[in-house]
Amino acid sequence: MPELPEAETIVRGLREPLEGRRIQSVRVIRPDVVEGPASRFMAGLAGRGVQQVGRRGKNVVIRLDDGSRLVVNLGMSGRLLYRPPGDPSPPPTHPVAEMPLVEGEGEAAGTLIYHDIRRFGLLRILPARDYRSWSDSLGPEPLDRGFTARYLAQACAASRSPIRSWLLDQQKVAGVGNIYANEAVHRAGIHPRTRALRIPDQRIPRLHRAIRRVLRDAIEARGTTLRDYRTAQGWEGSYAGALRVYGREGEPCPRCGTAVEREVFGNRSAFFCPRCQPVPTDEPRSDS
Ligand SMILES: [Zn+2]
Repeated sequence: MPELPEAETIVRGLREPLEGRRIQSVRVIRPDVVEGPASRFMAGLAGRGVQQVGRRGKNVVIRLDDGSRLVVNLGMSGRLLYRPPGDPSPPPTHPVAEMPLVEGEGEAAGTLIYHDIRRFGLLRILPARDYRSWSDSLGPEPLDRGFTARYLAQACAASRSPIRSWLLDQQKVAGVGNIYANEAVHRAGIHPRTRALRIPDQRIPRLHRAIRRVLRDAIEARGTTLRDYRTAQGWEGSYAGALRVYGREGEPCPRCGTAVEREVFGNRSAFFCPRCQPVPTDEPRSDS
């Protein structure tokens, strides 16, 4: 499921082909993935110029020339693909919406396609004011300056949630999902079930560094492709080979060689090294 590094990679691949161009028309093939009536969605986009392609948390945000934003939540398997004019690759297998682009006096400038096999994604158009209040409801961007070790310490001190679940809460920090939450707590030597307020103060800077490091490294590798994720150009990301614990149950911890374990809580799998990330001693094992 796409997280911050995957959304960021898609954004980087869409800036050049989209910014400064115009959405000529919109074809909605699967209206269930669009918020509100498809006719309203199409009317909100057709003819609009693209000013900027950006990201908020795991969402791709396309700012239009009337101040509104097309916000794309990629769900489990969403892809935003750009196909240049005359692209010879076969048509997409599960298109949800297609937007031909034009530039200058109306010359064809390729097509933006939202593709989603499982259709848990969501496309919506937010007017400027609605966009701001939605964005304000999310936590800080973990790679921005506002996300400091001090913020992390204060926010953790106020929560009894297991740290893995805390990291998945988009209102605490925006963009981290299950893959990078597990990787970050492994790097920080913290068991995923440790309650946020039980993390010792002196361990917080290490967790802060681990979160940023794992996200930056994954962006560098163009994200993690386990199954469905692709970049805007249709490529796979290469970070899967660098994962230390996520999806590696029974395989050796790269740091100490102990077999990685898996435990389900909060309806999601947690992966950890029982030696590098000892079970919190103040909590009984069954208490999650
Ligand atoms: Zn280990």
